[in-house]
Amino acid sequence: MIRPAEEVLNEGFSEYGTRFAVVTSFQKEGMVLVDMASRMGAGVLVVTLDTGRLPEETLAMMDAVERRYGLVVERVKPDAGEVERMVARFGADLFRDEVVYRKLCCQVRKVRPLDGALAGLDAYAVGLRRGQAESREGVGQRELVGGKWKLSPLAHWTAEEVESYTERHRVPVHPLYAAGYTSIGCGPCTRAVHSSEGERAGRWWWEVAGDKECGLHFTPAGKMVRELDVLVSEIVNA
Ligand code: SF4
Repeated sequence: MIRPAEEVLNEGFSEYGTRFAVVTSFQKEGMVLVDMASRMGAGVLVVTLDTGRLPEETLAMMDAVERRYGLVVERVKPDAGEVERMVARFGADLFRDEVVYRKLCCQVRKVRPLDGALAGLDAYAVGLRRGQAESREGVGQRELVGGKWKLSPLAHWTAEEVESYTERHRVPVHPLYAAGYTSIGCGPCTRAVHSSEGERAGRWWWEVAGDKECGLHFTPAGKMVRELDVLVSEIVNA
């Protein structure tokens, strides 16, 4: 059953209180959630992943969000030792070499830090929409993932609905949208797209095959999993 986004988001506050957060990278969907939460009058905890490779525009968005909504964005960083070992062994731009190295970088800079941040929470909300990519078609509004409730209040929203909310409430917009970006992640792994390309085509655009996912929302699958597990373990336990 599809429920109004506000109802799903409100559940997070009412059921989990301070053990609930909005996790966002300040793309339009995440900003809708931040805005919606602030209108509910709840003191929203906003968590973001500061991977160390973010574009300066995203760093500026964090400051802009704090000013506009009067909150403090919790910036979650990767473990410095893990990053250092990964870079020493594979280079800073390992993500260009092979998909498995790209996934390793995402594990070290995104997935593992988020796991750490979620340890203190019972539930969190993200801006996933089913229409963003084939890999997201099955997203539910409330899912139990790794023992935490993951809310996707906008799962059924269209890009037009996001646009309409953004305009209606004058929600701050990440400046890279104006430069032709339709999905925004780390600086070296994101580019603007052409009008004929899909919404996430600008993410890891050099990868000809693959799910265009970093592992935050969908666990890596397929034959590279074992290789990835070994690499992560070597970096973490070195
Ligand atoms: S998006 Fe790129 S730079 Fe960022 S964590 Fe993933 S591979 Fe690394």
